[in-house]
Amino acid sequence: MPMSPYPVICYTPRCGAPAVYKIAARWSDGTTNELKTYALTCAACLAKSFASAVAKRATCRLTVGETLDAPGVYDLARGARDRALARRPDLEAQLPSS
Ligand SMILES: [Zn+2]
Repeated sequence: MPMSPYPVICYTPRCGAPAVYKIAARWSDGTTNELKTYALTCAACLAKSFASAVAKRATCRLTVGETLDAPGVYDLARGARDRALARRPDLEAQLPSS
C-alpha cells in the first residue's frame, strides 16, 4: 500500500507541525483488540497531548468485558499498521501519568 503523500499534522490547535508520535491505548472487548487513538502529536506538544489523553482515558466508560489500557506513546510510522507501531516507554517515563 502506498504511503499517504500528505504529512500527518499535530492535533494541537494552531500547532501545524508534522506529527511524529501517536498517543493511543490498547482496547479489547475480550475477542478483538485495537489501538484507540487519542492524538497524533509533534514532540513539542507531546506532554500536553499525553496529559489530555490520560484525562480522557479517565472519563471513558467501559461495558462489562471491555478493557482499556493506560495511554501509551508510539512512534508514528506512516503506512504502518497499528500493531506494528513501536511503543516508546522511554518517553512515557518522562511524562506525568496523572
Ligand atoms: Zn504540536
